Amino acid sequence: MNDIINQSVMGVHGVGEEAVNQLKTLRIFTVGDLLEYFPFRYEDYQIRDLHDVKHDERVTVVGVVHAPASIRFFGKKKSRLTVRLLVNQVLLTVTFFNQPYLKNKFQLGEEATVTGKWDQHRMTITASEARFGQQQKEQRLVPVYSVAGKLTTKSLKRYVSNGFQQFSGHIQENIPPFLLEKYKLPSRREAFYQLHFPQSKEALKHARRRMVYEEFLLFQLKMQAFRKGQREQSSGKAIEWPTAEVRQFIEALPFPLTDAQKKVINEIRNDIQSPYRMNRLLQGDVGAGKTVVAAICMYAMIKAGHQAALMVPTEILAEQHVQSLQSLLEPFDVTVRLLTGSVKGKKRRELLEELKLGTIDIVVGTHALIQDEVQFKNLALVITDEQHRFGVEQRRALRSKGEDPDVLFMTATPIPRTLAISVFGDMDVSIIDQLPAGRKAIETYWAKPDTFERVMAFIEKELQAGRQAYVICPLIEESEKLDLQNALDVHMILQQYFEKKSQVGLMHGRLHPSEKEEVMEAFSRNEVQVLVSTTVVEVGVNVPNATVMVIYDAERFGLAQLHQLRGRVGRGSEQSYCILLADPKSEVGKERMRIMTETNDGFVLSEKDLELRGPGDFFGEKQSGLPNFKVADVVHDYRALEVARQDAVSFINGDAFWSEDSFKWLRAYLVKEGVFEGEKLD
Ligand code: ADP
Ligand code: MG
Repeated sequence: MNDIINQSVMGVHGVGEEAVNQLKTLRIFTVGDLLEYFPFRYEDYQIRDLHDVKHDERVTVVGVVHAPASIRFFGKKKSRLTVRLLVNQVLLTVTFFNQPYLKNKFQLGEEATVTGKWDQHRMTITASEARFGQQQKEQRLVPVYSVAGKLTTKSLKRYVSNGFQQFSGHIQENIPPFLLEKYKLPSRREAFYQLHFPQSKEALKHARRRMVYEEFLLFQLKMQAFRKGQREQSSGKAIEWPTAEVRQFIEALPFPLTDAQKKVINEIRNDIQSPYRMNRLLQGDVGAGKTVVAAICMYAMIKAGHQAALMVPTEILAEQHVQSLQSLLEPFDVTVRLLTGSVKGKKRRELLEELKLGTIDIVVGTHALIQDEVQFKNLALVITDEQHRFGVEQRRALRSKGEDPDVLFMTATPIPRTLAISVFGDMDVSIIDQLPAGRKAIETYWAKPDTFERVMAFIEKELQAGRQAYVICPLIEESEKLDLQNALDVHMILQQYFEKKSQVGLMHGRLHPSEKEEVMEAFSRNEVQVLVSTTVVEVGVNVPNATVMVIYDAERFGLAQLHQLRGRVGRGSEQSYCILLADPKSEVGKERMRIMTETNDGFVLSEKDLELRGPGDFFGEKQSGLPNFKVADVVHDYRALEVARQDAVSFINGDAFWSEDSFKWLRAYLVKEGVFEGEKLD
């Protein structure tokens, strides 16, 4: 698009053969790459008032040397230099480690600027840098670039500076002027300048803002254009929604739907009726009532003459869903069957046969559902619960089952909106943002693990009131490597503790499926009052009479997971409690426990989790599907992401984008990215 900017970085003054090779390792090949190689942070040497500085923060101060510097040596190489500085009439001690050569630079009565960590209690700065004389007047925001190999920061800065002087006139604006105006964004050239040579914090902030918007806008334009293309080509079915029958079904439910549930059902209904294939993410916090939404949509499909499938991550959940769907749907003449790995032999063959014939309306199962042998007569809707547990491959396999079935992904692990619209940017998103009326917020406490007696007493009190409790352990059995609670031991201890008073059950992943089913059954019928379990009960399990959730070694779990576990209680009208037994050593660990006690809002938690762990970790794998942004950060800049997304949606679906000159650059970009053929342009 721009030959001058795209020429080899060799064209920059001072960049020779060797430098070209060094720059390659940073993936800098062209002049443009060099100009877009932005600092990853800035050293802040702005002078600050100590009153505004918190303990342990980094600070730069200017002071007058009050007494000659003194120095002590420890062995040959180690030393500590101490100097007293008068800063704004406050006398401070500044220490430097292993920089003995600074001693003679501190001249009595002269000014010095030092940078380091502020110790508020001892009125000391442990400094790493000092500047004297004229040097102090230099730039106060110093960019820090990442360099590798033989390339030094100093050379890189020189190349960037030369490159900018020679070529900045060729940096092309790519955002239409009306948008720059609307959001008060600096030009591309100005933004580049401020990012490399920040003149002030303010200017830097706007430069960043501009680049963040640009990156998100390009990304979202691609996503939305792609989605538009997909929709136009997709061969989904337009299915008539059986309004009257669905209404009857809803009226027969034991409770009225929440407004949020109604809203979401309408969104799904529109998708089902449209000729496009539905690709929708349904989010709702634990207990928001997603299952009934799924049931209603499946019911509609069946009444319209099709089949539906519900896929879940665990057998326990599959069984539970079969039961609740059967009790909801069988009175309406809908056949619901379970298909998991443990359905075998003749039973399995018959089931497969019936699915193929279409005499089974709904099948619920684990990933066994997507095996090749499973065939449907006319599968039109696939719903997955807790879809983040399914890999991309599984999703694809599932989608290829029917003739383009509509797909609905349900998740109770609220995916932070930021990630939802970036990773799942090609999906529509529905959110049930309201809990059924009458729910009480779960009270969450964080206790030290040595409070066993008190915790037991608490459980006992609830049991006496007729309630039930979960006790979660990270391990099944004792481990030599990990000093953590295990379900077998805890089960034994609790059995002794509650002997003759209550029944204590045991649940973990190594039980035979039929044993699991038995234990779950017993717990839901209140024949077992305390269920000791590993995290297999994490998702979806619904026993409304349980009001206590005790989690051992809670610091071992991520926030999203803790929230899921906690979501097993508070499902009825009684007050419920969650007790986190944890002794986290790290600050992050403590912060996590605090957040859990402070909020019940899954979305808040997931945002926090993301902040504490980063997007890669959030999905438990490194390929989170997020593009690499140079400046933007999906976690911190999520507002900009949302703005960019809305803009992209309206551009792509409007006319101006496809014709007006101001969008020319962006159109060309989409062609270059392969989203459209070139001829779309002119
Ligand atoms: P989740 O969204 O976590 O999957 P569920 O679908 O399991 O939640 O619903 C949790 C509980 O709330 C269930 O016992 C369900 O019957 C009940 N429920 C669902 N919708 C409503 C509603 N509108 N009013 C009252 N209770 C509801
Ligand atoms: Mg559920």
